[in-house]
Amino acid sequence: MRLIFMGPPGAGKGTQAAVVAERHGIPAISTGDIFRANVGQGTPLGLEAKRYMDAGEYVPDEVTNRMVADRLDEPDAEKGFLLDGYPRTVDQVAQLDGMLQARDASLDAVVVLTVDQDEIVQRLLQRAVTEGRADDTEDVIRRRQEVYLEQTAPLIDVYRERGLIHEVDGLGEVAEVTARILAALDAVAR
Ligand code: AMP
Repeated sequence: MRLIFMGPPGAGKGTQAAVVAERHGIPAISTGDIFRANVGQGTPLGLEAKRYMDAGEYVPDEVTNRMVADRLDEPDAEKGFLLDGYPRTVDQVAQLDGMLQARDASLDAVVVLTVDQDEIVQRLLQRAVTEGRADDTEDVIRRRQEVYLEQTAPLIDVYRERGLIHEVDGLGEVAEVTARILAALDAVAR
């Protein structure tokens, strides 16, 4: 299967993406994780990405698109993948369409995790404490929500028009949410 996970920062995407990808035997590809790994290793990509991430802004499309195209060329992504946190802009949607076309592949579903805004901010503040993420200060958290609403939420309509959207309630225990997502995906023709 070829899946996209969407939802505002703090919706629990990363946690769910890892579990669902494993159940489906496909790699979970998180652009945020790849950026963070590069930041940690001090690579040129990491150095470039860090200033955007620390401010709660998106890394430029060009950089992000190239990184995803390279990742999709790895053998484990040939049969399927779950993209967590990509695409996030209209340009990224178009670029991903091109990547898929070039690989003679298409998307099966776009899962959107829905959660309450206040709940999200609480979760992110909590995560800042437990994971020590540099982009989890309160100002940055608010900026990330704004950027999501401005640049990424409109993508839901784009994919809805293609009949790919599956909205799943992201509130509740992790296992409950996982069960909802798996049930939604069971309904998707393979
Ligand atoms: P995430 O872990 O998915 O919340 O991503 C953390 C940060 O990485 C984001 O706030 C962005 O700065 C950057 N990032 C992750 N994915 C993308 C993307 N698809 N486009 C641009 N920036 C991204």
